[in-house]
Amino acid sequence: MAIMKKIGVLTSGGDSPGMNAAVRAVVRASVYYDRKPYGIKEGYNGLIQNYINPVNARSVKNIIHRGGTVLKTARSMEFKTKEGRQKAFENLQAAGIDGLVVIGGDGSFTGANIFEQEFGIPCVGIPGTIDNDIYGTDYTIGFDTAVNTVVDAVDMIRNTASSHNRLFFIEVMGRDAGHIAVNAGIAGGAEDILVPEQDLGVDRLIKSLKRSRKAGKTSSLVIVSEGDQTGGAYKLAEDVKSKLPEYEIKVSVLGHIQRGGNPTYFDRVLASRMGVHAVEALLAGTSNVMIGIKNQELVQVGLDVAIKQNPDINRNLLRIAEIVSI
Ligand code: ADP
Repeated sequence: MAIMKKIGVLTSGGDSPGMNAAVRAVVRASVYYDRKPYGIKEGYNGLIQNYINPVNARSVKNIIHRGGTVLKTARSMEFKTKEGRQKAFENLQAAGIDGLVVIGGDGSFTGANIFEQEFGIPCVGIPGTIDNDIYGTDYTIGFDTAVNTVVDAVDMIRNTASSHNRLFFIEVMGRDAGHIAVNAGIAGGAEDILVPEQDLGVDRLIKSLKRSRKAGKTSSLVIVSEGDQTGGAYKLAEDVKSKLPEYEIKVSVLGHIQRGGNPTYFDRVLASRMGVHAVEALLAGTSNVMIGIKNQELVQVGLDVAIKQNPDINRNLLRIAEIVSI
């Protein structure tokens, strides 16, 4: 096995808070082990366009606390073609880069998996997405920050909801996964939580709202994942309004604030651990894996395994949510 001398790092797909901390860790671990780190801008697009630059330990100063990604991220249709990947490979070869760390979600890992198999460039993935929807890891980088952002917003909405006896539908991110909704829902004291993984229907929600009013609740917050099968917060609000016209209903769609913000300590530490481990994996000759965390310990999961399935929602959390919201 040839000695790996130059390691490239990129961020790809949807951005998430903590990606910078991961980039920093990859760069500094590379320097620590006497390898040369390269920052690649705009994800796979940058590989194809040759936005590949040598960096050093100081290049990543002052970024650990910042949301977003200094390397920028992008979606690249061209990388989905063999010709695009061929260009990417040629640029990497010209720069002499012999290992790649890809920070992103399952789309990015799918690309990395194909790329490594086609051209033999060793790739290691780091899960960076606010949705926590990657199989093989308990946490993805950015999830903890996003949940905290949602909880802050929910707390603020609660102030106004309780002042007016209002029913609020708060839509949070999660097209296919309800991890943000269920965690922020429990932490924010939501009356009900609707997630894409289970279709409980509007009728059950209405029953639950009526029960709460009877039990003396004067205001309520319902957290709705954007991918909920009832059709999102606005549609749900309309359906409920038609059946409970006496309720004053408001909708708040939190949107992109959930992707921003300074990463929490948890995401910074997770990103630092995963970044260092990714470099160590490459140097140990391991590739085509994602670095995950299971029961507090870092693990390596085959990229093919990580992209194959979605982790299920924690059913126990849904049960807890039901109990604590009576
Ligand atoms: P995420 O990584 O957050 O899931 P995307 O699904 O948009 O985000 O994927 C990011 C990028 O990964 C895509 O723009 C594309 O360049 C690359 N990618 C995704 N799927 C494939 C694929 N099947 N083959 C090659 N590259 C892919």
